[in-house]
Amino acid sequence: NKDQRLQFQVTRYGQNERLVVARDITSLHKLGQMRKDFVANVSHELRTPLTVLKGYLETLADADDKPEAWQKPLAQMQQQCSRMHMLVNDLIALSVLETEVNPERHQPVALYPLLNRLIDETHSVAKQPRNLVLNCADDIAILGVEKELQSAFGNLITNAIKYTPNTSTITVNARKDQYGLQVEVADNGPGIDAKHLPRLTERFYRVDDSRNSATGGTGLGLAIVKHALSRHDARLDISSQVAKGSSFTCHFPKQRLLQITPQ
Ligand code: ADP
Repeated sequence: NKDQRLQFQVTRYGQNERLVVARDITSLHKLGQMRKDFVANVSHELRTPLTVLKGYLETLADADDKPEAWQKPLAQMQQQCSRMHMLVNDLIALSVLETEVNPERHQPVALYPLLNRLIDETHSVAKQPRNLVLNCADDIAILGVEKELQSAFGNLITNAIKYTPNTSTITVNARKDQYGLQVEVADNGPGIDAKHLPRLTERFYRVDDSRNSATGGTGLGLAIVKHALSRHDARLDISSQVAKGSSFTCHFPKQRLLQITPQ
């Protein structure tokens, strides 16, 4: 039965003996799938009414004859609407990353132009000019899905901008190593206390919710990064030191690394 899911647990006894326990996890798997479908459907359904609300709020905010007392509540409503929009978009992005991988969609993605474009884009949305440095050879490509790689690296670069002061330097380094390829986004910002590091990629986990709510994140960014990477057989390593800075490194295995002729 192709819908059946079994989980095997193998225990070794001595040289030649094994105890194999098979567990039927079909109903657990179905439940997981229902949860994923539910989140995907709800997020999609929320997007349309939110867009309508956002539109009307903009019209009200732009009206010249609106009462003075509306100013503050309107601004608050617009801010909360944008927050909800971000949340819904991140939830949709996550549910897309939970669908099955289609190897046919994996193509060579040139790394230098991708990182360069992401840096340019984040530069233009950052409120202040930022010091961003890119070190990447122009003949490297990753076998993968461009949109997913873009959301992984994009989230790391945006975080580095969001969580560091304007005077910090953000460095993006792509380098080959003996296992394949590393893409690192490093900053010399405030860093993260070691006790938070193991939980950072959990959904909705934020280091300091009250302080961070001002930055407008959803707590889903690093969960998106982790999912997008695992679809490329890659993993995320986080190291950080308080008052020194943070480094987020994506490790891609050799079979994902391609050599290309730069255009
Ligand atoms: P968010 O949507 O809140 O940005 P993320 O999952 O992207 O969620 O990040 C989780 C938390 O990790 C953030 O709330 C922030 O506290 C912390 N964080 C992420 N990147 C950095 C960084 N470069 N420097 C300091 N803290 C960071």
